[in-house]
Amino acid sequence: MKCPQCRHEMVSKTENHRYTESGLSNVVLVGVEVRRCQNCGEDVVSIPRIEELHRAIAMALIRHPGRLAPTEIRFLRKWLGWSGVEFAKHMGVAPETVSRWESVDNLKPMGGTAERLLRLAVAYGQPIDQYPIDMLTEISDDQVPKAPLLAMKPERSGWAPTTIAA
Ligand SMILES: [Zn+2]
Repeated sequence: MKCPQCRHEMVSKTENHRYTESGLSNVVLVGVEVRRCQNCGEDVVSIPRIEELHRAIAMALIRHPGRLAPTEIRFLRKWLGWSGVEFAKHMGVAPETVSRWESVDNLKPMGGTAERLLRLAVAYGQPIDQYPIDMLTEISDDQVPKAPLLAMKPERSGWAPTTIAA
């Protein structure tokens, strides 16, 4: 492989790589292939199965005891595929609050309830198609709980909600 900067030949080595490209400063990839240019020092890191890596990092982060760091919150939010504005909507907070949670020099960390919700959203994995997470946006504090009729019917594939005449 030729150097993308100066076209010199690159030398391949197996190294540990601090994965700052993820936005996290505390993740090291152990024993990955790094090609380095002997001429200009440019390096190219080869990261196999990157989606799986990101999933594994996300799962490791939510298993960590102790509070999530701002960079970790941002990584998890992006892993869920949410913009800052979407994240704010799902969590029921203002977008500025999300900016504060993700700010490294934040003095006011994410609250415990919000952090639990984020961890659960990640633990759920990404099957957003199976869980209409958009309905989180509909929940507001000034709503009165109504407990509407929920009719359940046994079907071949399992119990499913249905509608009946009241
Ligand atoms: Zn080079």
